[in-house]
Amino acid sequence: MSRRKVYLETFGCQMNELDSELVAGRLRALGYAFTPTPDDAHVVLYNTCSVREHAEQKVWSRLGELKARKAADPALVVGVLGCMAERDGEALIRRMPVVDVLCGPGELDKLPALLDNAVRTRESLLRDEPAPEGHTPRLISAREVALQGNTSRRSATLAAAADSLELLDLSRSVSPIDDDGSVKRSAYVRITRGCNKFCTYCVVPFTRGAEVHRPPEHIIDECRRLADAGVVEVTLLGQTVNHYRFEHGAAVTVDGVVQPQKGRSYAGGHRRDPFAGERVTTFADLLARIHDEVPGIARLRFVTSYPRDFGDDVLEVIRDHPRICRYLHVPAQSGSDRLLGLMNRGYSVGEYLEFIDRARAHLDQPEIGRPLGLSGDFIVGFPTETDADFDATVALLRRVRYKNAFIFKYSPRPGTIAIDRYPDDVPEAVKRARNTTLLDVQGEISDELGREQVGRTVDVLVEGASARTRKRRASSPGTVALTVGGRPAGADADFAAADAPGDEPVQLSGRTDTDLIVHFDASPTDALAWRGRIVRVRLDRAAGLSLFGTLIS
Ligand code: SF4
Repeated sequence: MSRRKVYLETFGCQMNELDSELVAGRLRALGYAFTPTPDDAHVVLYNTCSVREHAEQKVWSRLGELKARKAADPALVVGVLGCMAERDGEALIRRMPVVDVLCGPGELDKLPALLDNAVRTRESLLRDEPAPEGHTPRLISAREVALQGNTSRRSATLAAAADSLELLDLSRSVSPIDDDGSVKRSAYVRITRGCNKFCTYCVVPFTRGAEVHRPPEHIIDECRRLADAGVVEVTLLGQTVNHYRFEHGAAVTVDGVVQPQKGRSYAGGHRRDPFAGERVTTFADLLARIHDEVPGIARLRFVTSYPRDFGDDVLEVIRDHPRICRYLHVPAQSGSDRLLGLMNRGYSVGEYLEFIDRARAHLDQPEIGRPLGLSGDFIVGFPTETDADFDATVALLRRVRYKNAFIFKYSPRPGTIAIDRYPDDVPEAVKRARNTTLLDVQGEISDELGREQVGRTVDVLVEGASARTRKRRASSPGTVALTVGGRPAGADADFAAADAPGDEPVQLSGRTDTDLIVHFDASPTDALAWRGRIVRVRLDRAAGLSLFGTLIS
């Protein structure tokens, strides 16, 4: 039979994007082909997120759309992967019987077997049980489910589970070709799974389980293989990435015992692991090792950082290793100590600011061309939030001056601690107004920071054609393909999309190491050559956080 076609759609965070990439790589290796629309797929998979209500609604809507298709084609296999699958379990199938396969984020290594079973079961049932005219064959009982079980996280078994899940990361395809055929220059590498923090609004500790740190040798080897394949930028991923700590001598370190944060004293700003030594690799050690052992990685990034886990050792390593980006994404969530307590964030506003000041003291060095970029996350309208609490959040934003902030209205998420503990008592209109106010304040700050950049010269890692170029190309059919030394750029889909009319310059986009987006013009004859390279750009103009400049080398 011809290759089975899979449609895979991903919702949510970078961790989900990486999970989808790994799942796709494994399925490709097993002979599945991928299709860009669900219409001609034999298998439709949604990798879900339950952190934001909006993402979840989209998944329900996609599943609803599949009902008619499934009725017409009972052999179609529909799978729900990720956090929604883990959280809702078989209740999800009861609500949406169109679903055949459920697979939690901690069980993705089992997905190929689940799919294989589901496809074969359906094929044999359809073959053996021809449906009476007008009836669907009996397929309902043939369901495939792999969930970690969100109420019985057994630390004794986590190491084994992590070992088999580890194979999924280890077996990743490091071919530098994206789905669209373009050469891949940036990649995610997971260093930690799960989370032990238990913020009250968050479902992740229940869906992804306890924190498990990957062995440094595996991580470094993965970075090396990616660099050998042409990747120049690696972003290390973890829910609390800077909490990484691997104890050698065990197959996998499991911090399975959950320590309540309440009552724990803040260790201050100079945390060093007192037990670190040859048998322990800390986050600072890991960053330094990747930097030194994989010189092909021109930029090393990491997300997401947890404010109280930042020791000076990490800041010193970033300061002293030039290819580690000076960009920290450090969610604050609120500027009110009272709300931070209700959220169980484990730090006060004063402690958060102490960290910000310390990070600036170590890393903000614009005089040598090495400034620090900061971004944050905020929740508005958390239960009981008063005007005074919200004003404190505005004040925090103004004090820190993030280059950008991700701002969300609180919505109670099933499976979280907050949904049972705190009534959602801030009216929607108030949430909306606070959301708008905070976005406006952040917009002003971003504008100011953007204007301050004008006149500077920055290093930009070129990602590809700007959105403007792609849009123009789409609306201008008579285009001339970009070339490099006479070689057509057609093999590189991203740059093929940048085709420009005649000799007009092509606008390219990239990022500074502080994560600022920079656009500049290049000749269409050598635009392709810039992709994945770090170029010098003089900044001429700012529009919010979009910066425009002139290529100087
Ligand atoms: S640190 Fe808090 S918000 Fe982040 S994943 Fe863990 S529980 Fe969720």
